[in-house]
Amino acid sequence: MPELPEVEHLRRSLEPALLGAKILRAAVLRDDMVHPGEPNSRGAEERPSRSPSMTAGLLRGDSIDRLERRGKQLAIIGRSGRVVCIHLGMSGQLRHVDGGRRIEPNSHIHVRWWLERSAGEKGRLIFRDPRRFGGVWTYPDRSALEAHRWSRLGPDALSVSRGELVSALGGTSRPVKAALLDQALIAGLGNIYVDEALFRSGVHPATPADALDPRQVAELQRSIRVILRRAIKAGGTTLRDYTDGSGRAGRFAVDHAVYGRAGRPCLQCGSVLIRSLIGQRTTVNCPSCQPPALAGTTGQNHGANPPVTHDPDEQSTNHVRRSAGRRVGRSSGSLPTPYRK
Ligand SMILES: [Zn+2]
Repeated sequence: MPELPEVEHLRRSLEPALLGAKILRAAVLRDDMVHPGEPNSRGAEERPSRSPSMTAGLLRGDSIDRLERRGKQLAIIGRSGRVVCIHLGMSGQLRHVDGGRRIEPNSHIHVRWWLERSAGEKGRLIFRDPRRFGGVWTYPDRSALEAHRWSRLGPDALSVSRGELVSALGGTSRPVKAALLDQALIAGLGNIYVDEALFRSGVHPATPADALDPRQVAELQRSIRVILRRAIKAGGTTLRDYTDGSGRAGRFAVDHAVYGRAGRPCLQCGSVLIRSLIGQRTTVNCPSCQPPALAGTTGQNHGANPPVTHDPDEQSTNHVRRSAGRRVGRSSGSLPTPYRK
């Protein structure tokens, strides 16, 4: 499923082709994938229909002013102020195809736009989504988007401040892994980058969110930012169908430290990475670099104190040394580090 880095990379890869382009025509090939996002009097979304107002909602006759992202959603904003919000769901793709190139016949294309740039170059933008968990929502202006679809999103994970993260996590005792996946608390993180950020900050994924101390939240905020930036730079992760705006696959998978690596050695300490289920999601963590917060609060510790390697040549970061130190401290009989002040 595309997460924040994939959508941000997509946004950046589409900008050169889309900014300033005029939308000559728009076509909806599958009605139930396009939603006029303005709530009706009962607060429910209107039923979509294949009408002229729908294609006007899709910015027909407008020019593209900017592309914005919040969490995993992308908004195309027209000069008129109208907004098209796109959610890629599990398998969605938004692609720009140059005028001369043929679009392969594909039953999964749901919306198609015909574009013209100022130099007269033609192009097309297509939204396809084989599994149809995504969709397109149209709004008369940005404030309607903010009041409706984006009102359910917390601060964006790429720009979340330490204070915002403190208040998001401080209000729930759910496992920090589950809290970080909750788009209403913080927008943009999915399973991959939550596992990676928790590993990088040395936090056990089952730690109650409100039991993290300020130092851990600060470390988590830094880790989230570093990991997301690195992933955006690498072009996102390729999982099944993700491609950028011109159809290129991402390549961040090679850099995952824990995601998808259960049963293999931790890249930092050599302990075997363990898999568990937290908030119904598969979770991978290192039992040594991410020790449980307090005995008894985190359920099972599958890791059962595996040996920590202290190879001086090993590339290791400060947080790992700190974590290893804590663990050694506990095994020598001292009290565990209190996580709640
Ligand atoms: Zn480790």
